[in-house]
Amino acid sequence: MWLLGEPWGSLLLFLSLATTVSLAIAASLLVRDTLRLQARTKSLEAEIEKQGDTIWELRESEERSRSLIDGQGDLIVRRDLTGRIVFANDAYIALTGKSREDVIGKNVQLTIVERQPPQSQLDGVICRDEAVRTNTGIVWIEWREVIVKGFTGRTETQSVGRNITARRAAEAEAARAKAEAEATNQAKSRFLATVSHEIRTPLGGVLGMADLLLESKLAPAQTTYAKAIKTSGEALLSLIDEILDFSKIESGRLDIDEKPFAPRAMIEDIVELLSPRAHAKGIDIAAVTSAEVPEQLIGDAGRLKQVMLNLAGNAIKFTDKGGVIVRLTMHKGKVVFSVKDTGIGIAGHHVTRIFDEFEQAESGPSRRYGGTGLGLAISQRIVGRMGGHITVDSRPGEGSTFVFTLLLPEAEGEASALPNPRGRSVLIASPSVITGPALQWMLADAHVAVRHVTEPETAREWMSRERFDTVLVDRAFGLDATMAIVSSGLAASQRVLTLVTPAERHELPRLTSAGAAGYLVKPVRAASLLAQIVGGPNSVPANDDINRPIERPLKGLATLLAEDNDINALLARTVLLKLGASVAWAKDGLEAVRLYRDGGFDAVLMDLHMPGIDGLAATIAIRTFEAENKLPRKPIFALTANASEEDRQNCLAAGMDDYLTKPLDRDAMVALLTPLVRTGARRSSRAQAAKTSITASSA
Ligand code: ADP
Repeated sequence: MWLLGEPWGSLLLFLSLATTVSLAIAASLLVRDTLRLQARTKSLEAEIEKQGDTIWELRESEERSRSLIDGQGDLIVRRDLTGRIVFANDAYIALTGKSREDVIGKNVQLTIVERQPPQSQLDGVICRDEAVRTNTGIVWIEWREVIVKGFTGRTETQSVGRNITARRAAEAEAARAKAEAEATNQAKSRFLATVSHEIRTPLGGVLGMADLLLESKLAPAQTTYAKAIKTSGEALLSLIDEILDFSKIESGRLDIDEKPFAPRAMIEDIVELLSPRAHAKGIDIAAVTSAEVPEQLIGDAGRLKQVMLNLAGNAIKFTDKGGVIVRLTMHKGKVVFSVKDTGIGIAGHHVTRIFDEFEQAESGPSRRYGGTGLGLAISQRIVGRMGGHITVDSRPGEGSTFVFTLLLPEAEGEASALPNPRGRSVLIASPSVITGPALQWMLADAHVAVRHVTEPETAREWMSRERFDTVLVDRAFGLDATMAIVSSGLAASQRVLTLVTPAERHELPRLTSAGAAGYLVKPVRAASLLAQIVGGPNSVPANDDINRPIERPLKGLATLLAEDNDINALLARTVLLKLGASVAWAKDGLEAVRLYRDGGFDAVLMDLHMPGIDGLAATIAIRTFEAENKLPRKPIFALTANASEEDRQNCLAAGMDDYLTKPLDRDAMVALLTPLVRTGARRSSRAQAAKTSITASSA
């Protein structure tokens, strides 16, 4: 060093120092980088391990999803837009009958044997049912298809299908069973309709002839026999009607009408119709409609009448003392129909059973009362169809009350107001547990001051003590007692009206001579009662024309009768002739048309089933003849044994005006034909002459 001298030595020293420092720096940098590298390696290793975990988890999750997809019975398949399968679960693969390799990535399609039109749903899903052929047979599949974005972002169709083969088979079986049941029901109804028609026709003859026999001069024993024939015939007829009705209800063919009707008139008509039966048993019957019941309601009056007739008819049948009250009231906006009797009542354990078909409280050979046990079953079903339910409150020996409640809308239109006797005073003297309370309800409802007494003495006491605007005395006290009350009323200058049954009308002259100012016939209608109370001393007393014999109401009416059955024809002709009409008889449809063309008839009564051309065809021929010759259209009435709505529609469609059901009912005939008599009176003398000759030929 020394040899180089001082500056060189310093330089060398400096260089070696600098080298050492540089080496130190390089070494430290190397160490730092190594450490960094080691740290990075560690973190990468951790990352790799984490990724490995994630991959393992993903694989496990995919395994799980796949096993879930494959585990469920549904078929899952995804196709790209060219139709190639990009995914299919095991169920789908199995259905194709191929291996997975032969399915995935290929355009494999199932063999469709039947397909129902597809239906799209709101969420974009399209549903369609298909039947496909598989190795195991035909399989029905319900597909739900939707467009989705695939894993790679491509559009794919995803279809999920459910095997509905069992469901389809069950549905087909149910439809087949239903169709079979309907066909059986229809066959049953047709059979019943035919049988009932066949039974009704000769039965009509039996009943009609019994009627004619009863109108002729008979020995008392003969009258008894003829009455027995009639009663048995009527029982048979109602049995046929009930069985027919029941089968109709059972087969679900019970249609409920919705038309306006007057409820008060309906129950008053029912009670009036049944009153001869009640009076013949020595019991009373009355109808009361409370003032809050609307004058007009909307419902099926015909069916309601049928139910009420059944309930009230039963009430009469099972009552020997007292009587029956039929009432209409309101409760919470609903109409309450009730029939209360004072009869034998029903034991608790029979109460539910009697509503079953063919069930009677008293069964076996000891049964005292007739009937089929169908009436209540039918009534319950009818009321059920109207949204109600019949209940009964009864105890043996204490009478029964049958009740049902219906929501019936009030009909709009003119309400016929009852006379208003508000503020009058009335004394009712009646021993009857029916008539007395019924009149009391009616009068109290009309704001009349009423006093009701049940003893003749009490009646006389009240009449001597107080002045009543009207005193009503029930003939049910007996003729003598009634006359005594009436004459004491005369003495006390009270206005006395008597209450009589139609059978007691012959006593009216005696009651009038005892001082009665008038009378009311039981069962009393509200309008007649209130008119009498309002009318005061000068009112017209008679309010009834029931049972009043009408002399030849069809006098002068020229009828053409088309009927192939000799007995029915004889019956109809005899009734018509007795009513005063003239009758020309045609034995079949062709003869009816021929006779009609000769002219001069006011009405035609046309049987439906006749040899050759039937009643409908004959009607069409007559209507065509009238139209072609510009002749007035004369009424044609069908004579039919099975008066179903369908029959009625057929009759109207053929050009008929109405129909009469067989067996022919005299009153129905009078009601239908009497309005024509007035028209008949205005006929020309030429027609009159023609008619006379027919009368002569047919009488
Ligand atoms: P039917 O009167 O033709 O036998 P229903 O079905 O009308 O058939 O009545 C069934 C049964 O219910 C009757 O047989 C009778 O035992 C009982 N029943 C019905 N109404 C009354 C009533 N008002 N009082 C006592 N029993 C009654």
